[in-house]
Amino acid sequence: MRTETRGGRRIIATYVFRCGEDGVFDVEAPMGQAGQHTPCPVCGGDSGRVFTAPMLGLADRRIVDAMDRADKSRDQPEVVTQLPPAGASRPTRTAPPNPALKRLPRP
Ligand SMILES: [Zn+2]
Repeated sequence: MRTETRGGRRIIATYVFRCGEDGVFDVEAPMGQAGQHTPCPVCGGDSGRVFTAPMLGLADRRIVDAMDRADKSRDQPEVVTQLPPAGASRPTRTAPPNPALKRLPRP
């Protein structure tokens, strides 16, 4: 079975299982590698897998957007065909001057 990777790293997913005696518990395993049953960590009994919605909502939206752009740029890189409009340039930000520099003697 092939293991999903992103950027050469294995993706570890959290799978939810339910024990009839002890309730639900999580198992972390490489994506696509979790079975339908696993032993309960408390009683060792057979526990079935519970299918839940992926926790995509917990991810930082900026990181997800960056990953989407990186994936898209493999096949459809964004190509600049014209200069940005004249008003689009933003002033270059510089660090505020260090107040200690004002106390130095002038040449
Ligand atoms: Zn149990």
